[in-house]
Amino acid sequence: MIRFDSVVKRFGDHVVLDHLDFTVAPGERVTLIGPSGSGKTTILRLLMTLEKIDDGVVWVKGEPLSHERKGTRLVPASERYLRTMRRSIGMVFQQFNLFPNMNVMENLTEAPVHVLGRSKAEARDRARELLAMVGLSDKETAHPTQLSGGQQQRVAIARALAMDPEILLLDEVTSALDPELVADVLDVLRRIAETTDITMLIVTHEMHFARDVSDRVLMFDRGRIVEEGPPERIFTSPREERTRKFLDAVL
Ligand code: ATP
Repeated sequence: MIRFDSVVKRFGDHVVLDHLDFTVAPGERVTLIGPSGSGKTTILRLLMTLEKIDDGVVWVKGEPLSHERKGTRLVPASERYLRTMRRSIGMVFQQFNLFPNMNVMENLTEAPVHVLGRSKAEARDRARELLAMVGLSDKETAHPTQLSGGQQQRVAIARALAMDPEILLLDEVTSALDPELVADVLDVLRRIAETTDITMLIVTHEMHFARDVSDRVLMFDRGRIVEEGPPERIFTSPREERTRKFLDAVL
């Protein structure tokens, strides 16, 4: 479903991802952990094509993100191709990023209507199902400023799901929240993990959550994977000194 093939990303002279290789299978839940600056967010941003790759290939569903097929040739990806590729990927950011001038229902139906071409009625029905799932059925007409951070984040999750993504990218979605609001957001994500087969790539500092939902954990340091494995093993008996030190600091 996702394959990073010797991916290099630099900002100026700074090599952020250094010939990175990894794959994520369909339906798999993979958590990226590691110290600040190790390149986790950059990986998600490359998948959203918010950053350009310097070398290597990122594959999504068997197609390269940087190029598209023209007959038997590969040519640089057009904006139109990237839009199609992005359609199968949803992302939720640390800072909710809701449309501030739209109410909750409008936030959830805007893209399904204008990008996917759904009817308003169909988009609204789906939005209502999703609002029920995130526990916010009573907030349809609320504006983002009238919601708590946790509620805004649950709307942002519902909005991402409204596009029926096959892949969901979650970038430290609880980091900007007051501690008492974190649990509700994590409960919603647990429910999504349990009830859907969406492929999830998660960057989080919530190690208990990572343990609950992940099939696999990748530990990053300086743009490379230093260790990977099932969460039970990584969290209880890490093999690498670097992982041990990181977990001692955050657990
Ligand atoms: P954190 O846990 O703090 O979010 P991270 O592992 O997600 O860290 P990234 O955000 O991917 O790390 O950043 C990796 C490195 O790339 C950092 O050193 C960061 O300063 C640098 N970086 C990221 N974006 C840019 C940019 N637009 N311009 C210059 N440097 C950048």
